[in-house]
Amino acid sequence: MDTTVSLRTLNTFGIDGTAAALVALHSEAELLTALQNPALPRPFRVLGGGSNILLTAPVSGTVLHNKMLGKTIVPESENTSLMHCGGGENWHQTVLYSLQQGLSGMENLALIPGTVGAAPIQNIGAYGVEVKDLIQSVRFVAFADGRVTEYAAADCAFGYRDSIFKNALRGTGMITQVTFRLFRNAAVNVRYGAIGDELQKAGITEPNSQQVAEAVMRIRQSKLPDPAVTGNAGSFFKNPTLPLAQYEALQKTFPELPHYPAGDGRVKIPAGWLIEHSGWKGKIAGRAGVHPFQALVLINTGNATGAEIWALSQQILEDVQQRFGIELEREVQVWP
Ligand SMILES: Cc1cc2nc3c(=O)[nH]c(=O)nc-3n(C[C@H](O)[C@H](O)[C@H](O)COP(=O)(O)OP(=O)(O)OC[C@H]3O[C@@H](n4cnc5c(N)ncnc54)[C@H](O)[C@@H]3O)c2cc1C
Repeated sequence: MDTTVSLRTLNTFGIDGTAAALVALHSEAELLTALQNPALPRPFRVLGGGSNILLTAPVSGTVLHNKMLGKTIVPESENTSLMHCGGGENWHQTVLYSLQQGLSGMENLALIPGTVGAAPIQNIGAYGVEVKDLIQSVRFVAFADGRVTEYAAADCAFGYRDSIFKNALRGTGMITQVTFRLFRNAAVNVRYGAIGDELQKAGITEPNSQQVAEAVMRIRQSKLPDPAVTGNAGSFFKNPTLPLAQYEALQKTFPELPHYPAGDGRVKIPAGWLIEHSGWKGKIAGRAGVHPFQALVLINTGNATGAEIWALSQQILEDVQQRFGIELEREVQVWP
């Protein structure tokens, strides 16, 4: 078996990482065969589009590359349909497909990189919508015994960039299919300021889902670095939430600190602002750096190692902690 399978083209950071073995899986039957193959090195780990991982060292086990395709729409009621999607489907193409089928719900999540199977892992979200609001169930195959469990959304412990798959079930199995509940005549969600501005610019006053998706795509293309040009994994850190009292104390020193209600008496602070005001925006450290326009996005400026990017993220964590007393949490999954 090849012991140095390159993962360079399989992660959007463009890190030149390796795995002991890489197996492309097109079906649950292929997954079960892989799980029973004693020649494949353990542990198993799943790779989708590689848009939320940082490879910091060689991966000793087997990487299972999710290639499970298929989309089926089943009408459920006058206004809703269920869409069953293979976990290996491309997320953005799935959003476009749902819109072409006259179904709405996914439009605010257009252009997020990656696969359908990874979407529940960190409950992807953008522009005021989280995927948990659309998920009906998640099909999960356990590595230990191949057992299939269909998790209802209510059992997935979804939170802000969080789910049961990132915690109790982390590394224990593979999401092979996700079922979404989508709508025929739902009102669009344009509460997020930038979408309203973008629609206004285009002279659209009563937008449909397709127009909202197009607005989201234009905003994202103008704001976020394209991984095909500059290696990155989107937001590197989560936006921290603080107890109200901690926020109020901080606000005395930093009156301009932006904040949003986060529920349960907590306040969300944009991590990008904290990083920028710790002096890191646009800074380069060797071959790793912080994007000049998006302080939340760490970049590979060319041939950086994962360890270099990790070290930069550690320096940022420490500086933010020292300046604001806030501990940032990495959103990106660090491998191995
Ligand atoms: C430019 C850019 C913009 C982004 N914007 C956003 C955004 O707006 N909102 C947002 O939420 N995210 C965003 N992201 C992050 C990323 O796109 C999402 O987290 C996405 O869901 C990752 O999908 P993936 O298939 O690439 O997962 P991968 O990076 O391949 O995997 C991520 C983690 O999930 C696990 N995993 C993946 N698939 C499965 C599976 N089928 N079963 C079990 N475990 C699995 C992996 O083992 C890994 O630990 C952005 C990333 C980039 C590069």
